[in-house]
Amino acid sequence: MIDIMCEVLTPENLTDALQLLAKADSTTKILAGGTDVVVGKTQGSKRFADTVTLIDINRIEELKGIFEKDGMISIGAATTFSEICKSKLVEEKLPLLKKASSTIGSLQIRNRATIAGNFVNNAPCADTVPALLVYDASIEIKSQAATRNISLQEFLQGPYKTQLQQGELVTRILVPTPKQNYAGDFYKLGRRRAVAISRLTLAVLILLNGKEIADIKIASGAVTPIGKRFPKLEEFAKGKVMTDNLLRDLSKKMGEEVLAVTGLRWSSDYKLPVVQQMFYQLLKGIER
Ligand SMILES: Cc1cc2nc3c(=O)[nH]c(=O)nc-3n(C[C@H](O)[C@H](O)[C@H](O)COP(=O)(O)OP(=O)(O)OC[C@H]3O[C@@H](n4cnc5c(N)ncnc54)[C@H](O)[C@@H]3O)c2cc1C
Repeated sequence: MIDIMCEVLTPENLTDALQLLAKADSTTKILAGGTDVVVGKTQGSKRFADTVTLIDINRIEELKGIFEKDGMISIGAATTFSEICKSKLVEEKLPLLKKASSTIGSLQIRNRATIAGNFVNNAPCADTVPALLVYDASIEIKSQAATRNISLQEFLQGPYKTQLQQGELVTRILVPTPKQNYAGDFYKLGRRRAVAISRLTLAVLILLNGKEIADIKIASGAVTPIGKRFPKLEEFAKGKVMTDNLLRDLSKKMGEEVLAVTGLRWSSDYKLPVVQQMFYQLLKGIER
């Protein structure tokens, strides 16, 4: 039988939460929306088997809100996807994050699930990761002793593994306000249209100078073990004219890069052409 009983602590502010965390050991976990931790505990997931205490961060105002300051968009770690979808700032400046957030689970899940919970859990299919990666997101992490900032890419170490240390809490997500007019899109492929676990996610931002690619940022999720950028492919594309031939070439190379990360698998015969075709269609859509 699965024991799902946990003690739940409910700090009212950040100072109290960090104090509780400083005293805690690995049997204590943060509880945000609970859509991974509570579901995992209930289903007997090994990752939460020894969790006996949860620190509920939902009452902490310092972990909420979306605002712009000093050229950075700051998103509170405990901001829900419904709040992100409603934010005018996100809609205007980070449209790919809005699109990715709107594809998560159902309305009920989006009303509970938080942005930090998504990438701290770091499932391969965490939908907001590719969008955050192309926006060069970094995160602010606090413990009672220190505050540190780290790029999201560095924070993510492997499936369900991050750099988060005992006693630390993710407090905010920081995204440099895009200064130029990047065009872009986010694409999610699941087995069905709603409440679907992603099989493939792609996020692309392109800055065009006439027909020439001045800058490009490419990220994937689900089809790679964790969300990742493709610096070699980005460098290859920069400075080239956006012709149909180039888009086909980029799509072919994207498939090869994904294969290089995942290795040849039984599913590669399906995944490779799907990645290439979806990436091509995404680029074509941006070109239009
Ligand atoms: C029915 C269903 C559908 C879903 N659909 C999708 C989907 O389409 N796409 C998708 O990407 N995900 C989906 N999920 C997974 C889940 O909703 C997301 O990963 C969500 O973002 C997790 O956030 P949360 O606030 O619920 O995290 P929680 O479950 O509260 O926490 C998740 C993990 O992060 C840690 N944590 C949370 N916040 C912090 C913080 N501030 N600092 C440090 N550690 C923290 C917790 O300790 C825990 O280890 C789905 C889940 C369900 C149940």
